Amino acid sequence: GVPLPVQSLTVLGSTGSIGVNTLDVVARHPSLKIYALTAGSNDGLMLEQCLAFSPQVAVMADAAAAERLQVALADAGCQTRVEQGEDALAAVAAAESVDTVMAAIVGAAGTLPALAAARAGKKVLLANKEALVMTGELFMRAARESGATVLPIDSEHNAIFQCLPPNGQTEPGCDLRSQGVRRVVLTASGGPFLHADPQTLASVTPAQACNHPNWSMGRKISVDSATMMNKGLEYIEACYLFDLQPSQVDVVIHPQSIVHSMVEYHDGSVLAQMGSPDMRVPIAHALAWPQRVDSGASFLDLATSPDLQFYQPDLERFPCLALGIEAARQGGYMPATLNAANEVAVAAFLDGRLRFTDIATVVSETLARITCTEPLSLAMIQQVDKEARAVATGLVSKHA
Ligand code: NAD
Ligand code: MG
Repeated sequence: GVPLPVQSLTVLGSTGSIGVNTLDVVARHPSLKIYALTAGSNDGLMLEQCLAFSPQVAVMADAAAAERLQVALADAGCQTRVEQGEDALAAVAAAESVDTVMAAIVGAAGTLPALAAARAGKKVLLANKEALVMTGELFMRAARESGATVLPIDSEHNAIFQCLPPNGQTEPGCDLRSQGVRRVVLTASGGPFLHADPQTLASVTPAQACNHPNWSMGRKISVDSATMMNKGLEYIEACYLFDLQPSQVDVVIHPQSIVHSMVEYHDGSVLAQMGSPDMRVPIAHALAWPQRVDSGASFLDLATSPDLQFYQPDLERFPCLALGIEAARQGGYMPATLNAANEVAVAAFLDGRLRFTDIATVVSETLARITCTEPLSLAMIQQVDKEARAVATGLVSKHA
């Protein structure tokens, strides 16, 4: 194909599942250059990545990890400059010489750097769905005002993007209804407990919850997939990304994860994007858009694939999905509250301090205790996030 134009990239969260997949695609295309890599505390993998990609800057959130990395890079004779802390994350996301930012930090920790990239008018490859759930309206407004391009990495939203009418792709915020779109349909695998006996869910272990049937992902999103909170977050994400009313978003269970989502048009046409369940497909799509390049993923062979099934989600079995949909409907500060409570509950579950089934309980009780009707602002979102974490932490102890 046509070679890609040169792009200078910052990868936020380069040591995570999305980060590693991103660098795998980047390594296939010499015109993609790394300006900065960032990570939380995994200095060992960061060292390897610095030696392989020679970024100008490496940022570690953790101070001790930054020091270890500095020493190891000096020993190896690597020129990469090490920085540390939150301000450095935002700085490499907004740096003048950067064209493209992969936002792949997990959780609210990634919000300010992702927002910095959007404000600076970058091409933002958005994997960090929690950032959008927390600040969706402000984030999309910042991107519109700065002229940033937001390309979704979440496989469902990337699929929807690919199935949008041409104006929907090039004019963010355009009215999709007037372009013939009736609704979008998010597919959901249903996770590892789709058919589990509900009686057994209270005793599920972190290892069982993280054992996803189709995807290999970070631990937090794996638990979210098991509770289906992931689909709740994605429901909110779809409303913000594509400027849709919640009534225009639907969810269908599709256990094979081959159809990644669909767009339904007024004439009855349904466009679906399909592919192997490999995150390098949406990553390569967004890196190259509007071109197409090799991703390294295997090609789909439908004749030898399992039969494709579709059915309605069971909201009683998956209360977290119902909570996510309700938060999308209510809007305001409810999505940020939901996200904060969920992050606390999932961390407690992974730590052995909370039962799997109490993740939904903690989120729902936090939502019942926090209401905020102030006009939307970043400062107030951060305050609500903090309060929701405090309330959820108390509820975790109560349910422990
Ligand atoms: P992960 O846990 O594998 O990686 C997270 C990355 O963020 C790591 O590099 C880690 O060092 C960094 N990080 C963690 N805490 C940090 C902090 N406090 N400050 C700075 N950096 C920090 O997660 P992942 O599976 O790669 O997911 C990343 C994001 O992409 C999540 O928002 C997830 O929902 C989204 N996503 C992931 C997938 C997937 O297939 N993994 C699919 C769709 C969306
Ligand atoms: Mg997804």
